[in-house]
Amino acid sequence: MRSIDVVAHVLPFKTNNYVVNELIDWDNYQNDPIFILNFPQKGMLSPEHFSKMAKAVDAGADTATLRKTADEIRHQLNPHPAGQSHNVPEVNGEKLTGAQHKYNETMLFFPSQGQTCHAYCTFCFRWPQFTGMDNMKFAMKEIDNVIAYLRQHEEITDLLITGGDPMVMKASVLDTYISRLLEADLAHLQTIRIGSKSLAFWPYRYLSDPDAEEVLQIFKKVSDSGKSLAFMAHFNHPRELETEAVQKAIKKIRATGAQIRTQSPLLNHINASAQVWADMWKKQVGLGLIPYYMFIARDTGAQEYFGVSLHRAWDIFQRAYTRVSGIARTVRGPSMSCTPGKVRICGITEIQGEKVFVLEFIQGRNSQWAIRPFFAKYDPKALWMDDLQPAFGKEEFFFETELAEMLLE
Ligand SMILES: *Cc1c(COP(=O)(O)O)cnc(C)c1O
Ligand code: SF4
Repeated sequence: MRSIDVVAHVLPFKTNNYVVNELIDWDNYQNDPIFILNFPQKGMLSPEHFSKMAKAVDAGADTATLRKTADEIRHQLNPHPAGQSHNVPEVNGEKLTGAQHKYNETMLFFPSQGQTCHAYCTFCFRWPQFTGMDNMKFAMKEIDNVIAYLRQHEEITDLLITGGDPMVMKASVLDTYISRLLEADLAHLQTIRIGSKSLAFWPYRYLSDPDAEEVLQIFKKVSDSGKSLAFMAHFNHPRELETEAVQKAIKKIRATGAQIRTQSPLLNHINASAQVWADMWKKQVGLGLIPYYMFIARDTGAQEYFGVSLHRAWDIFQRAYTRVSGIARTVRGPSMSCTPGKVRICGITEIQGEKVFVLEFIQGRNSQWAIRPFFAKYDPKALWMDDLQPAFGKEEFFFETELAEMLLE
């Protein structure tokens, strides 16, 4: 438990009684996937970083020193991966800092009051932004800016409200955002998505929280207005689908007319097994959920600990995919969300004697890049896009020159 304390100075740590009492198997906690998902582990820091932090803790350093040490370590963990700062939209010359518009049809919105979560995942890359702000006036100005941007961009059909976890917001705050969006009467906006891990970490959000019923009414209001509410649920392990509470909460959300889609990264020590994924997808479709994405763990934070090689990721995906029926094969992956876009590993093959990864964009920074096969030299150790080289002696991938120009803008 001392190592948890040391690592928790650097990586985020927050848990709750649902995760502790209903999800974690304490008889075997050391290898328990939910324990590892929620409680920082020694191996999540490199030995040097661990001993640096441990020294500060053991020396009884004051809060400021502990924080300074932690920040120094964090800065070495690539806290801002995938060039996210390049997609900040502007309205009338003003930057919308709580939003991102990287792909044509879909805009991301990070409401300032949704920048925390019911519990923290140890693999999470969003920890630099867990600060939060609690101010209703700011919320209104924020959503009005988003609406102004949406008015000028009729190509956007989807607004994805994300965080942190937007479902930590009180119903009254969520209602401010949603009501103003609906009142804005944007015909091109078809789908409001909410990205959330609340079903896995706090299903009582929809059952017994004081404003649970109000939340469900907000979802219903979206469906009743003729737009679709897509609840993008983050589940990392089939265990999270097994409790009575989560199953009841899923029913309640679906009864509002919302659809629930699911996504997760592939994580060593938590779900790096074809059986786990096949089981998770089967349980999901059994509960009426729609599998959507399998992601490859990002190049940030404890990637050494959670990372799975691209080869192994494809192998796990292929073996899981072939164990489930077509109903669960709505899932796409394994995919890397990197600077040029979402890159999927389609397979590993040999072309004219050269072993290659076959890749494609699911989403590209230029939308025309999607679903054009391209090839990288096979590398059994590659963990991420940056580790890949073009195949067949090419100097660069087909998108690289264009991407470099886009990044200069
Ligand atoms: C995944 C993602 C989206 C949503 O893409 P869809 O393919 O529409 O699900 C939007 N913005 C960013 C930055 C993303 O990574
Ligand atoms: S719930 Fe989502 S944002 Fe929150 S810690 Fe987990 S992965 Fe990160």
